[in-house]
Amino acid sequence: APAARIIDGTKIYGSGSTAVRALDAISAEFAAGAFTAIMGPSGSGKSTLLHCLAGLDRLTSGQVMIGDDDLSRLDDKAITLLRRERIGFVFQAFNLVPTLTARENVILPLTLGGKKPDRAWLSELAAALGITDRLAHRPAELSGGQQQRVATARALITRPDLIFADEPTGNLDSKSAAELLSQIRRAVDEYGQTVVMVTHDPRAAGYADRVLFLADGRVVRELPAPTADSVL
Ligand code: ADP
Ligand code: ADP
Repeated sequence: APAARIIDGTKIYGSGSTAVRALDAISAEFAAGAFTAIMGPSGSGKSTLLHCLAGLDRLTSGQVMIGDDDLSRLDDKAITLLRRERIGFVFQAFNLVPTLTARENVILPLTLGGKKPDRAWLSELAAALGITDRLAHRPAELSGGQQQRVATARALITRPDLIFADEPTGNLDSKSAAELLSQIRRAVDEYGQTVVMVTHDPRAAGYADRVLFLADGRVVRELPAPTADSVL
């Protein structure tokens, strides 16, 4: 099975005359070990797609499959558990806990699961993302770019099967962006992790294997175009 899949996914926010159709019967597959970038104009449904795929929000109709698990059949508790075990999410707004240090934020997904961090892996991630000397600081003492890299380390710390990233390079200078994208690329190449990344930046999309273009809650273009084999 693909690592993740959305089938006829529709998401409607609100109701009546103010309802917004953020996703419009969208279908897409994310093969295990592939790195997909999602691009498209503001308001085209990119964040909504990512949130629904990651189990952070529910579709109005249609299905999201994570491996063989149908999220629409799982209750919130089961989804939280699945996310904790199999999904890393880099939020656009970072979502760091202000009272915790950077190190505590990075290892939070492990702490929440009652697990201890692998020190060597934590050091390696921190070094690769350039935050080693920032681990004892709290988010308020970090720049936006540093917070973004802490949030990325948090998404990678559990070596999740699936990594979802919402504009992960939005606050970074080009050198930091390249470091972060290289680390995500390594996750795919060395550990076979599956990555879905929303981005506005064509250079960031250049790290991906495939780009899906969204407009009005639908996939309007795919590069490289799917072959007959991958469609069947
Ligand atoms: P993108 O990430 O491509 O900018 P979004 O997924 O954020 O697009 O938004 C898609 C559409 O859904 C937009 O019209 C947006 O205004 C609307 N939308 C997103 N989140 C909400 C929400 N929580 N409540 C109401 N409308 C929303
Ligand atoms: P709760 O147990 O209250 O539902 P969550 O597990 O949803 O809490 O999230 C607690 C914190 O951990 C949040 O700040 C969230 O951003 C972060 N978090 C949860 N799951 C992940 C994940 N898979 N990857 C990265 N961060 C996560």
